[in-house]
Amino acid sequence: MGGLHPENYFKPKTPAEVVSILHRYKEDALIMGGGTEIYELSERGFLTSVKAVVDLSNLGLDKIRERDGEVLLGASVTLSQLERQRELYAGGALGCLPDALRDLGPLQVRNMATVAGAVTACIPFFDLPVALACLNTVIEVQGDGGKIRRVPILTFQRDYLQPDLNEGEFVAGLVVPKQEDGTKSAFTKFVSNAGDWSIVNCASAIRVTRGKVSSAKVVFGAVANKPFVAERAAAALVGTRLDDAALESAGGALDEELVDPTSDGKASGAYRKRLAKILLKETVRKAASRRGG
Ligand SMILES: Cc1cc2nc3c(=O)[nH]c(=O)nc-3n(C[C@H](O)[C@H](O)[C@H](O)COP(=O)(O)OP(=O)(O)OC[C@H]3O[C@@H](n4cnc5c(N)ncnc54)[C@H](O)[C@@H]3O)c2cc1C
Repeated sequence: MGGLHPENYFKPKTPAEVVSILHRYKEDALIMGGGTEIYELSERGFLTSVKAVVDLSNLGLDKIRERDGEVLLGASVTLSQLERQRELYAGGALGCLPDALRDLGPLQVRNMATVAGAVTACIPFFDLPVALACLNTVIEVQGDGGKIRRVPILTFQRDYLQPDLNEGEFVAGLVVPKQEDGTKSAFTKFVSNAGDWSIVNCASAIRVTRGKVSSAKVVFGAVANKPFVAERAAAALVGTRLDDAALESAGGALDEELVDPTSDGKASGAYRKRLAKILLKETVRKAASRRGG
């Protein structure tokens, strides 16, 4: 019989206990956040070798705090808990987060799934990691002796299903840094039907000063094995008034840098490339026209 059938289920109360269990069971241990992706994998017959599940829900890592403009998210913060933080989004800088969360799976999933699970899964068509990457989020990895390693999300997500975690380490939290004053961000995605995964998704953070773009960031999901930062497209927007010509030129730059987008049963690489150009314009416009701040 395939799927998850662990011999032990642990609910440690301290980070030290987590680390000790992870060292004891090594690759046979599985950390559980909300369990929603684990459920999907188990249902497909994976995770058969897991002997110990380590449930982090007793660690008290379910808090959202603000410190000097940074937002600190405990690992166990759920997606619906984050979605509800209206005051965080009032200025528009973090607008891509509620955009990404609003249509992310059914509510039952958002009520269970955690921010740590969403980024550690390292699945390239997930929505939240793309929005978090656009905001330059840093992952806090905890290990031996309570030491915390801070890793930018784009480094943390090394490849498909490959987080930057060593034996004995787990994700304790995420830090969304303070965005420059005047920044607005947005997220959009294209799906073939409601409730399906993104075929392409996009997040953008834009700052407009005296009518001209002073900084721009654009990140795509589902086009590569990890979030893809479109540096040339973003550079093409800086200094412009975001008119049609500027967006067209950013689309041309994207064409050049997005050389070999993912091709799979859902969509060809060529189709994804066309979609990415459309989402680029839509997302940048949505970010720039966002109210607040
Ligand atoms: C029906 C359904 C629809 C969905 N639709 C969408 C969608 O539209 N868009 C989208 O983006 N996503 C979607 N998802 C995926 C969803 O975003 C993920 O399942 C969820 O984010 C995973 O979070 P979790 O806490 O449940 O992770 P878990 O399943 O608990 O864990 C996922 C992985 O992360 C590891 N992990 C978890 N927490 C930690 C930690 N603190 N430290 C180290 N490792 C950890 C686990 O060991 C596991 O490898 C959908 C899922 C389902 C079931």
